[in-house]
Amino acid sequence: MLIAIVAAVLLAGAGGAFWLGRRRRKRAVSRSAKVVPFRAARKRPGKRRESAAGEQARPCSLCRARNSRLSFYIDESGRTIGVCKDCRPKAEARELDRL
Ligand SMILES: [Zn+2]
Repeated sequence: MLIAIVAAVLLAGAGGAFWLGRRRRKRAVSRSAKVVPFRAARKRPGKRRESAAGEQARPCSLCRARNSRLSFYIDESGRTIGVCKDCRPKAEARELDRL
């Protein structure tokens, strides 16, 4: 009978430790899951900027020249347009809202 009680206590202890371990691990996972997207979000713009400087540069909406540094404006019809540095005075002359 005593052995049964000891075994039960040991099992309960092991179960509790397992549960605590799982809980702790779960919390650690959720914490790192929060950290990872944050890091990825911080990394991604840099990556995008790198690729934008390369062949994926977007064309200017006004002169169609591919430029990695476009300024974005909303034109008269409410569309978002990317404007290169050379065309920026044109957009500003049209008094477009800059994004
Ligand atoms: Zn342009």
